[in-house]
Amino acid sequence: MTTGIYVHVPFCRSRCVYCDFFSTTREEMAATYVDALCREVIARRHELSHARVRTIYFGGGTPSLLSPTLLRQILNTIHQYYDVEADAEVTLEMNPDDWPLSNSPHRGEDSITSEDKNESIGFAALPTTGGAERGSVNRVSLGIQSFDDALLRLVRRRHDSATAIRAIKALQAVGVDNISIDLIYGLPGQTMTQWERDLDTAFSLNIQHLSAYALSYEPGTLLTRWRDEGRIQEVTEELSVKMYERLCQRAREAGFEHYEISNFALPGRHSRHNSSYWQGLPYLGFGPGAHSYDGLRTRRANRPSLDDYLRGPIPYDLEVLTDDELYDEAIMCGLRTSRGIALHDIEHRFGPDRLLDLIHMAEPHLSAGRLILDHASLSASSSSASHLRLAESAIMISDDIMSDLMS
Ligand code: SF4
Repeated sequence: MTTGIYVHVPFCRSRCVYCDFFSTTREEMAATYVDALCREVIARRHELSHARVRTIYFGGGTPSLLSPTLLRQILNTIHQYYDVEADAEVTLEMNPDDWPLSNSPHRGEDSITSEDKNESIGFAALPTTGGAERGSVNRVSLGIQSFDDALLRLVRRRHDSATAIRAIKALQAVGVDNISIDLIYGLPGQTMTQWERDLDTAFSLNIQHLSAYALSYEPGTLLTRWRDEGRIQEVTEELSVKMYERLCQRAREAGFEHYEISNFALPGRHSRHNSSYWQGLPYLGFGPGAHSYDGLRTRRANRPSLDDYLRGPIPYDLEVLTDDELYDEAIMCGLRTSRGIALHDIEHRFGPDRLLDLIHMAEPHLSAGRLILDHASLSASSSSASHLRLAESAIMISDDIMSDLMS
């Protein structure tokens, strides 16, 4: 059995107006935090001790605010106490302005020196071989969100478009060949032309993976307050749908596979870590606010408080999922992916009656072409070797379809 490890790094230099993730600007706590995190990594080493670690994901917050030394400390601890596969995918989320080379406006990509490479966070600085210092970051996920400077300022991102482009090129110059970027569409006032320009830039940069999300207005964020006060306006549903359709089309033209509702990748470059969430595989999450799942029916959520986390013992809540909750999750996760819901998995986990129910509930959507039944691996004896997936034209109404199929 394999597992993934998620490491939460709850520091941000400033807060973006749309974000409701758990993070703090108390960056000076980083070293103390990493010590506490490593204690959690060690204390929980028996939880999935039978599983090999296939992916490690540093998310946040802003993991790239940690120094290479602190990142190395975490990686070394994981390697010391867990069975990490030799070719594990190790992802680091970065903000473009944390990359040392992009902070210098006078340096073009031609002027990157080997000294620069050695001082760079990540690849030259992180451990790569043998002994206690094994494993290295081999994938970067850059939080770019937009290449439009006015929109970036509006949502209080700290970087501008030129910095983002410089960061991608700097990463490529030091040999990073697995780069994902995040974009947001439907930003207040964003036009189709601006979105089209974002896509032009994104696909011109030789990236391997793109995650693109519709802006959401989360309760308690500054952005939501601005909207409620009438200071900004949401884009229309119609424009948001058009932006999404254009995204899908441009990604396809660029040779990207649309493998999950919001995720696109060149062949072989899907995020292994995120895919394991959608497949219902077990994972361990370390840090305040991080979630874990045992792959059966128990979820653990560390409480999102840095002070409590540092004081210890780590406060957390456990949730034991019912059969109905597990089933609903299998439906939701399956329909998010281009592979769809594996019908044999539904039958195996929940019984033949549930499978019949599912097919019954899916029928109107199948007839209307909103759902598709793939028989790629259909054997003579088993119709349940097939997958039920969303038609691309139905992705924008996926929530309605999912709720029709759920228990
Ligand atoms: S979007 Fe990222 S950088 Fe901005 S506040 Fe949220 S976690 Fe921090």
